[in-house]
Amino acid sequence: MRDYNREFETLTAGLEGRPGLLLHVCCAPCASSVLERVYPFFDVTLYYCNPNIQPREEYDRRAGELPKLLRAAGMEDVALVIADYDEAAFLAAARGSEGEPEGGARCTRCFALRLGASVSYAAAHGFSYVGTTLTVSPHKNAPLINDIGERLAAGSGVQWLPSDFKKKDGYLRSIRLCQAYGIYRQSWCGCGFSRTDP
Ligand code: SF4
Repeated sequence: MRDYNREFETLTAGLEGRPGLLLHVCCAPCASSVLERVYPFFDVTLYYCNPNIQPREEYDRRAGELPKLLRAAGMEDVALVIADYDEAAFLAAARGSEGEPEGGARCTRCFALRLGASVSYAAAHGFSYVGTTLTVSPHKNAPLINDIGERLAAGSGVQWLPSDFKKKDGYLRSIRLCQAYGIYRQSWCGCGFSRTDP
């Protein structure tokens, strides 16, 4: 089995300069500890592209935490791109898998939708690397996410950044950073299908 954290460390140890990285971010909590891992090695641009987040107000709320995170982390040189909200794209991708449990086919399609958009943006804007914060979550399948990202990036001219950011206590670190920075931490993944709280 591949060790994506080791692959990340090997890749970054061999970098020269700080190449451009488009980092897909699902939310500020997940971005917090991931930024600490990537910022020393890359010229980072955050790409908030999550048409899966429902409702629209929640999409905007999570987006609004990102500038706050960058200020608190002292990383205001990190650029931030907020994609247009396209709920219809997510609903089309999820069609037929709405009732799947978290971690099932709906999530695989959701990852592909967001990572596909990220690869396209990175290719169109001349980034050297594209990656995602999604692997910091213990609820997300890092090998699956890396496999999707790699396949989508193949032939695009952009290199996929392998990661398993939950390693090295990445998830725990994200919780502590959010507490220290006063960052809003949501209680569900994103789509209405995954929401179980009242
Ligand atoms: S549970 Fe999360 S990853 Fe799965 S489809 Fe919903 S928003 Fe996407």
